[in-house]
Formats: sequence, C-alpha cells, structure tokens
Amino acid sequence: MKPSEDVIDPVCGMTMPLQAAPLKRTHGGETFYLCSAECGAKFDADAEAYVAAAKLNLPGWGNTPHPENVVKQFRKQDEK
Ligand SMILES: [Zn+2]
Repeated sequence: MKPSEDVIDPVCGMTMPLQAAPLKRTHGGETFYLCSAECGAKFDADAEAYVAAAKLNLPGWGNTPHPENVVKQFRKQDEK
C-alpha cells in the first residue's frame, strides 16, 4: 500500500488525505479533490477561478481558503 497523500481542497483550502476526499473533479487535465458537496458545487460554478487561485500557492494555503478577492480576480464575469 502507498503511504497516504495529502490533497488540498481548492475551494475551502483544507488539507485532507486523498483517500478521505469525497469528491473529485478534473479541470484542465488536472485532478482536484473537494471535501464536500458544497465545495464541489462552488468548484463547478467557478472552476477556472479556483484553479488559478490555487496555483498561486499563497502563504497559509492548505490551512485557509484563498481570500475571496484573490479568487475573484480570476473570475470571468464580475458580479457587480
Ligand atoms: Zn472544501
């Protein structure tokens, strides 16, 4: 058996063991893991923004979600 690998939920920023991730999505050829149906729905609605924000690897990432304003700058359409 392989040792467990940790993955980060790109929506809420929590770190979890890969085996414990209930949801999985692929985007742009990469696989992302989500902790809950709620995060899955957010990811589906805004995958590009979350993926782009996740790639920034900001300090604290893995413990805290990206600030909304960071995610927002990657959104295609701004809700104003
Ligand atoms: Zn989550």
